Amino acid sequence: MNIADKILAKDELSREDIIYLLLTTDEDERLSLFNKAKYTTQKYSGSKVNLRGLIELSNICKKNCYYCGIRAGNKDTERYLLNSAHAMEAAEYAWKKGFGSVVIQSGERQDKAFTRHITDLITQIKTLSNQELGITLSCGEQSEDVYREWFEAGAHRYLLRVETSSPELYRKLHPNDDLHDFERRIEALKSLQKVGFQTGTGVMIGLPYQSVEHLADDLIFMKNLNIDMAGMGPYVPHPDTPLFYHSEDIPEDTRRLDLSLKMIALLRIMMKDINIAASTALNTLDPNGRAKAVAAGANVFMPNVTPPAQASNYMLYEGKPIFTDTAETALVEFEEHIQDLGFTINYNMLGDSKHYHNRIAKKGL
Ligand code: SAH
Ligand code: SF4
Repeated sequence: MNIADKILAKDELSREDIIYLLLTTDEDERLSLFNKAKYTTQKYSGSKVNLRGLIELSNICKKNCYYCGIRAGNKDTERYLLNSAHAMEAAEYAWKKGFGSVVIQSGERQDKAFTRHITDLITQIKTLSNQELGITLSCGEQSEDVYREWFEAGAHRYLLRVETSSPELYRKLHPNDDLHDFERRIEALKSLQKVGFQTGTGVMIGLPYQSVEHLADDLIFMKNLNIDMAGMGPYVPHPDTPLFYHSEDIPEDTRRLDLSLKMIALLRIMMKDINIAASTALNTLDPNGRAKAVAAGANVFMPNVTPPAQASNYMLYEGKPIFTDTAETALVEFEEHIQDLGFTINYNMLGDSKHYHNRIAKKGL
């Protein structure tokens, strides 16, 4: 029995345990971690991977996060907002292919024209699918009223990454102003929970200035917040962003991949029944990255269904797969790989977070 096995036999992991597992380079210890995570997914959430068709609704954003390719300050990007017809084309594709759910993701803006557009789309998607297609939103920080409007229109899951749980690190990654305020982001997460969304958060992994202690604290933060879903992935530098000039200060690709997979595995072990996404950014580090994430505890896959003409402008990071990674080809390849791992795709199902339903059931007692 190696040290990792001893740690993994415990009911609760301490901060030191998490740090040990994030740091280990021993092959047997890594395998112990990933195998325990995979077993945990299968035991608590089943051997099914849930699908969400990802609709990148707009790259218009009023924020200036230092890491993001579609930040307002990047003048080299052609801006777009999918109109109803284009967005519905994407939703219909996901519906017909049996994806069960869509994710609407967008740059952040709070004006009424935008928030109403989202409300209308939610209503139209529900009508298109006899109320059956699930809708996850990822449209940044909004007022509680707007979150409620979207929830009442039929969206039921929301992903808002905290990016890092360290206020100091957050300040190094964002301009220091009201628009990029750590506390406001936490408040927004709490509003989402209050309104009733299945709430997801997550962090970027392998950022400049980020330590394994930060990452351990991120995991503990997510557990304490009692989230229902997580979306975590490697940080991938984009040349038209201020943080790109710190690319020498980040771990190399193989280490960022290793850390990302370990973060997924550890979160799975710490929060057994939540949904964890295999993030698209993993594929920039390894063509098989998202299937590896399933082997490490992920159970959600989000093929991109954005019409290609617009998707090429939704470049959050460099090398984001688009033309080589259409929903169809990505899914076929992914499906083959996960079958080898003993998983199948959960077609035509909402694929809700089991944690959410267990949480609600407990409350009712
Ligand atoms: N505007 C919304 C949603 C779109 S951005 C929001 O910020 O919440 C979605 C996610 O993309 C962000 O939360 C961030 O974690 C991720 N992202 C942005 N730039 C990235 C980069 N360079 N590398 C990896 N992930 C990035
Ligand atoms: Fe805008 Fe989100 Fe990118 Fe920040 S991460 S600049 S909020 S799209």
